[in-house]
Amino acid sequence: MILPIHVYGDPVLREQTVVVEQDSPGLQALIDSMIETMRGAEGIGLAAPQVGRSERLFVVDLEPYGEPGPDGESAWPPQPMVFINPVIDEESDEECEFEEGCLSIPDLREIVVRPERIRVSYLDRSFSPQVLDADDILARVIQHEYDHLDGVLFVDRISVFRRRLLQRRLRDMARGEVSAEYPLVPPGAG
Ligand code: ZN
Repeated sequence: MILPIHVYGDPVLREQTVVVEQDSPGLQALIDSMIETMRGAEGIGLAAPQVGRSERLFVVDLEPYGEPGPDGESAWPPQPMVFINPVIDEESDEECEFEEGCLSIPDLREIVVRPERIRVSYLDRSFSPQVLDADDILARVIQHEYDHLDGVLFVDRISVFRRRLLQRRLRDMARGEVSAEYPLVPPGAG
């Protein structure tokens, strides 16, 4: 089921999230719906708070990026991926720039600097523990989605200068002046 996505300004995007329990009712259906919602919106990641659930869960789908390069450096596991109760254990000192967007902040893309590589521990959708070393775009999307679980948005990580330039647009968005090609929950509506 495609779920409407909560938009910048909605308090649910700022809430602290709770650990997901294995016997959480409807969990597998929620995961399926999140994957369907992410794909329907042509996103490569979606975190539970974006569909109004304050839980430590996100999904990733790099399929639109096709196969990783022939050097094998950036190989990634089969897609889509489900991350339950993830913890980023290690971050590289090296950082890189990448232009990020967010399904909760439609039509806005900005350069964000983050660690280039990470190691993340998590549970997959069968609650099997996993450890993943990620680099390139996979490391990037995991860090972006992980931030959502702590109520952090990518626009919090851009320069003060850039944020000032975007201030009006973000304010208008938070007031409900927003549209997208996928269903949204406008701020204030829930
Ligand atoms: Zn996002």
